Amino acid sequence: MYCIKCGNKLGKDDKFCGKCGYNLNQPTNPEPANGINNADHKVLFGVLGFISPIAGLVLYIATKDSEPEAAKTAGICALIRLPISIIMGIFYFIADILPYIS
Ligand SMILES: [Zn+2]
Repeated sequence: MYCIKCGNKLGKDDKFCGKCGYNLNQPTNPEPANGINNADHKVLFGVLGFISPIAGLVLYIATKDSEPEAAKTAGICALIRLPISIIMGIFYFIADILPYIS
């Protein structure tokens, strides 16, 4: 086993690197400090995507690299909302033309 920071050779029970002092028990993949903010964004993006599929799509494109989870939520909500918009549009259209048909 070698230190991941400086490459110094380590004993298997070492807790710290003898050369650079790196804490070997440090989690290699720590939870991001802004995890809560990301969760908030996820909800916000989801709601925005549901209110406006276009906003959801724009958010998805704008944030898919920086916040893939939130972007995905916005995209999914936009995709769910889109057919609802179309169906509602058709209903409104039918309601509009109905008096002229009958
Ligand atoms: Zn080291």
